[in-house]
Amino acid sequence: MSNTTPANLTPTVDDARLHALVQAARVARERAYAPYSKFAVGAALLDEHGRIHAGCNIENAAYPQSQCAEASAIAHLVLAGGRRIVAVAVVGEAAQPVTPCGGCRQRLREFAADTTPIWVADAQQVRGRYTLGELLPASFGPGHLG
Ligand SMILES: [Zn+2]
Repeated sequence: MSNTTPANLTPTVDDARLHALVQAARVARERAYAPYSKFAVGAALLDEHGRIHAGCNIENAAYPQSQCAEASAIAHLVLAGGRRIVAVAVVGEAAQPVTPCGGCRQRLREFAADTTPIWVADAQQVRGRYTLGELLPASFGPGHLG
């Protein structure tokens, strides 16, 4: 799969759409299973068909088996037949904006482009606006394999 889809095929993502994505991530965060860290996170992805796929973090008593909200959302996107991530929202509550962890930046990279917007927010407001390329520069992706 190529990650070099021409820009003219990329659905437009306006601010209203991104705010809807943030809201979906807020709702997903309410479903988080985080009994150990108490650090609930929600994520939402906009796919190439304009659909939103959300996910929450899922912790495990065997801590390393826990799963990030972004990974949960990617699973939903793929299961629904999505193959591209057009925009990302991540919601968490912390003193600093809750950005995707390093592992999730790479997970997102599989389906997203350097220009894909990633908004991070808390319950009240959007705390940061990035692109995947800003969060994961000079990344390794599907294009490297063929
Ligand atoms: Zn993560």
